[in-house]
Amino acid sequence: MHVRFWGTRGSLPKPGPDTLRFGGNTSCVEVRTAADTLVIVDCGSGLHGLGQALAAGAKPALKGHILISHTHWDHIQGIPFFVPFFVPGNEWDIYAPRGLGQSVQDTLAGQMQYAYFPVRLDQMGAKIRYHELIEGSFQIGDVTVKTRYMNHTALTLGFRLEVGGAALVYASDHEPFQRNLASGKGEILGQDREHCEFLAGADLVIHDAQFTLNEYADKIGWGHSTVEYAVAMCKAAGAARLALTHHDPLRTDYAIEQIVRHARDNQCGKAPDLDIFAAAEGQSIELRARGDTSPLTVSNETMISDAPALVSPLLLMAVKDPVAADTIREAAQADDIAVVESGSVTEALAAAKSVQPSLIILEWEAGDPDTLGLNTRAHGIPDERANDVPIIVVADQEEALAGIKTEVAGWLIRPFSAAYARTRIRACLLRTTCHWERALTSHDEEQRLAVLHGLSILDTPPEERFDQITRLAASSLNVPMALVSLVDRERQWFKSTYGLDVAETSRETSFCSHAVSSREALVVPDTIHDPRFSDNPLVTQGPRIRFYAGCPIFVGESCVGTVCVLDHRPRQIDAEALSLLRYLASLVEMELCRSQSMNE
Ligand SMILES: [Zn+2]
Ligand SMILES: [Zn+2]
Repeated sequence: MHVRFWGTRGSLPKPGPDTLRFGGNTSCVEVRTAADTLVIVDCGSGLHGLGQALAAGAKPALKGHILISHTHWDHIQGIPFFVPFFVPGNEWDIYAPRGLGQSVQDTLAGQMQYAYFPVRLDQMGAKIRYHELIEGSFQIGDVTVKTRYMNHTALTLGFRLEVGGAALVYASDHEPFQRNLASGKGEILGQDREHCEFLAGADLVIHDAQFTLNEYADKIGWGHSTVEYAVAMCKAAGAARLALTHHDPLRTDYAIEQIVRHARDNQCGKAPDLDIFAAAEGQSIELRARGDTSPLTVSNETMISDAPALVSPLLLMAVKDPVAADTIREAAQADDIAVVESGSVTEALAAAKSVQPSLIILEWEAGDPDTLGLNTRAHGIPDERANDVPIIVVADQEEALAGIKTEVAGWLIRPFSAAYARTRIRACLLRTTCHWERALTSHDEEQRLAVLHGLSILDTPPEERFDQITRLAASSLNVPMALVSLVDRERQWFKSTYGLDVAETSRETSFCSHAVSSREALVVPDTIHDPRFSDNPLVTQGPRIRFYAGCPIFVGESCVGTVCVLDHRPRQIDAEALSLLRYLASLVEMELCRSQSMNE
């Protein structure tokens, strides 16, 4: 793995005589593998120089991947000036954390609006694909990418890149979860422990180190690390090299040199096994696998396809501290999250049964038996779904709560800002496993299945008489996909498919099953905005259904399946179109009854 720094400054580009050595451009790192996979991490003003170098190399049809940690300016401001984006034939994949509101593409387009820049994002010549990330891992060519939420004032991902046994971690912008760790001393617990595991055994860690411990007292909650914390984390993680980065705009070359010298001196005598340096613009590093280290596995290995959509999240809160409560209300409001308030922790946990919140925020009070009730919440909330509801605890420090750690999904350590609370809430909501709704089983299920099986039609070859109907459905309703779907005990099997190359899918994720159990037509204009379907795998992954309309097929009294139409785009269906679909379902009924009488 070949690593090159194109920008190492935090917050603001700072060219000038005092920043010649470590550079004035904001965050940008180029990574290239032996298989020639190009991964760019962050798009600060350093991206401009990288773009010029790539253009000078003038490879036709350049392909590359861009990981964006978050969309603060110093991590995206190079994008409008990246020459390879303007060249037709080039192909780029951009990956960035999914937010709660607008898409990554919209956020990036924002800085290129008419008032700020003469060319729009969608006018650039290259083909650009956008991918939204949550925590987990995915593959880019020969590179395995693992992601983890950092502790910052915006939802930010750190990246761990592994290829051929070598590992690189990019962890900027990030603040210690336990603020006492800013000193580099103290036991590493909780989420800092997890951060440490994310860095485990890395050959190179590029870590936020914007402040020194002395400066940190005035910068608490700004979302950045101290040099001391970065060093302590890397040593505990057994990393080989640490590149300090996100240099403060006010930091001169001389000051950075002093900081590095001080950090190196501090580990003298304690077996200085960590190579510490400050990332410098233009610096290149070759990473090879160290034979003797086996990185700890990172816990969450979920493959990311597309992040699940969040449908009108609801926050249940029991926080007595008026300042903290106000800050949380402000944070929730900014993301359109409804808040239900509760007088006490016990009340909140009891209310969770009926309110069905997406997230609970509780305030820790030392010795309060109410808060201790957290331990027994498994008994307090019998509903299986409510048990998955993440809990964030408001407290003065994280380690006081060792006893209930396993129950807690996140912390808000006082004092905290609304921006900070917003980030923690987002991370928590996006981390939560989502559920889609499985249809209820029909009241006449056994009878229904007997009739369906009696047709002897399941697993028979396609027949023109049914294929005509799906073709007609697709063309007359102007949709790309149409199906004759029969709902079996554990699956839905398709007698005819148009525009979809699948023989059957699980009943667990079946849309038609909802129509069958209700015995009525089902229309879902936009699946993403329907909590029953928004995180259904058929929506979040292939075939990415956005629109569904299905009419039930009856054989006698039993509803056996549907004729349905699907689209990748949201759409409306008018009464006329729906009655046409009903008519097509009745044609299928006639064909099925013909088969039935022939069987008899
Ligand atoms: Zn930054
Ligand atoms: Zn930032």
